[in-house]
Amino acid sequence: MDLLAIALELKTNGVKPKIVTDDYSMQNVASQMKIEFIPLATRGIRRVFKWIRYCPACYKKYLSNFNSTNCSVCGTKLKRKPKKKTGSKKVN
Ligand SMILES: [Zn+2]
Repeated sequence: MDLLAIALELKTNGVKPKIVTDDYSMQNVASQMKIEFIPLATRGIRRVFKWIRYCPACYKKYLSNFNSTNCSVCGTKLKRKPKKKTGSKKVN
């Protein structure tokens, strides 16, 4: 609970603290105190897809927040797909 006390103190001082914790009770208390928290271990489990955008013509990749729907290189309409780990390739 010390961490929360520190966070709350920071908050009253006008700082926006973020707590990194996987403790659900801590997360509960933090959210009740309107303190942001960042879960660590659960990050990969959450069903939040990161999307990447890519150009199907020239394969340039864009961040999902790229603010155009067309490729800046060749003008082709961008496609998007969920970002996933590229499988480990065996190198002989
Ligand atoms: Zn392109």
